[in-house]
Amino acid sequence: MSEQTRFLLGESDLPKFWYNVMADSPVPPAPVLHPQTLEPVTPDFLSALFPMSLIMQEVSQERFIEIPEEVREIYKLWRPTPLIRARRLEKMLDTPAHIYFKNESVSPSGSHKPNTAVAQAFYNKAAGTKALTTETGAGQWGSALALACNFFDLDLEVYMVKVSYHQKPYRRILMETYGAQVFASPTDRTQFGRSILERDPENPGSLGIAISEAVEVAATSGGAKKYSLGSVLNHVLLHQTVIGEEALKQMDLAGEYPDVVIGCVGGGSNFAGIAYPFLRENLRNGQRTRLLAVEPTAAPSLTRGEYTFDYGDTARMAPIVKMHTLGHDFVPPAIHAGGLRYHGMAPSLCALYDAGLIEAVAVKQKATFEAAVMFARAEGIVPAPESAHAVRAAIDEALEAKEKGERRVILFNLSGHGHFDLSAYDAYLHGELEDYDYPAEAVQRAMQTLPKVQVAA
Ligand SMILES: *Cc1c(COP(=O)(O)O)cnc(C)c1O
Repeated sequence: MSEQTRFLLGESDLPKFWYNVMADSPVPPAPVLHPQTLEPVTPDFLSALFPMSLIMQEVSQERFIEIPEEVREIYKLWRPTPLIRARRLEKMLDTPAHIYFKNESVSPSGSHKPNTAVAQAFYNKAAGTKALTTETGAGQWGSALALACNFFDLDLEVYMVKVSYHQKPYRRILMETYGAQVFASPTDRTQFGRSILERDPENPGSLGIAISEAVEVAATSGGAKKYSLGSVLNHVLLHQTVIGEEALKQMDLAGEYPDVVIGCVGGGSNFAGIAYPFLRENLRNGQRTRLLAVEPTAAPSLTRGEYTFDYGDTARMAPIVKMHTLGHDFVPPAIHAGGLRYHGMAPSLCALYDAGLIEAVAVKQKATFEAAVMFARAEGIVPAPESAHAVRAAIDEALEAKEKGERRVILFNLSGHGHFDLSAYDAYLHGELEDYDYPAEAVQRAMQTLPKVQVAA
């Protein structure tokens, strides 16, 4: 028993509820503003893009929201995911710390993202939506949503950043295997795409452009097509809490309770997914677990960004929200963790960070890959470059515990595997990886284009 490595739950232990942190957050949510009028958004602005059930979840104050049976049925294809004690990593580090990780890389598309993709496809199907549109950078989100739309018999149009479409064909092929249509953005399918191609036929695309195309297609479809987003929004973070709810039960099986819970943050969904249920235990049941969000020094929105109102996207079509931001015009350096390059962060997470209930740290690219390779050699799993940020922080916690002679219990979220990111490992292993410091000048420039919002905060 003392040498147990995997802590597994049965299908009957699959959580029946998602946890909504808004019920317990001591910070009231800031208003969400229309990108043109700068006034609070009306429901019809959102209902052009999302079904009413998801809009209701977005603003819900209910503590627990039932996971529909149809969603649980699909979760069972890979959930509950294993909790693993990283004993071999502990030995490699010679640390008295106990290191656990929740392995979200076992989902069919290889990350935590299907936890929300399946839920969003279900609610859209139930509302009569015929097709979803979305954007994707390197393809993690697109492939998760392609998987989900396939199960609910929904069409899916993915607007994929053109450079990634050509440089990273494998995730495109995965999306097409699940039945999605994938377009290299900018396309000639939208007014916005055509306007860009007229001026610049060789435009390589960007996530901002792809978002604008996906939003335009949904907004002009007369209700047949809706838009779907893979992070940042309250309902997305809500769906991810199935991770932390399972982890609570599994830590109990292991007979331990974490001193620190760690996750990488791009838009905040996998971190919130593992951390919010533990935050509830802090707020309601007197636990004192530290919650640590890890971001890249190349896009450090929590540790270096300003807490203010900004557009959700580069093209200024998404609502304005209050968050830690580097400026919606900020284009981060081309780090390999594509999922961590967002200029902002989930508003709920920012509010909790601002209130001192969550900690954050930024780590550099080379140190991140150094940790990823150590993890791969100790535990056998090659982490996604995004997840490797959490691995770095977990190793640093374990090394600090060693230095202080402490028996610290560390839990981190392994948000995905890196099987589609091996070229990044190739670059690291052959000394071709660059380190990026905080890009101060680029951020300063981007911060000059914040919306002029006057709201009593
Ligand atoms: C997309 C992605 C992330 C970043 O997104 P969050 O919403 O912050 O979780 C992290 N890890 C992996 C593997 C991803 O695919």
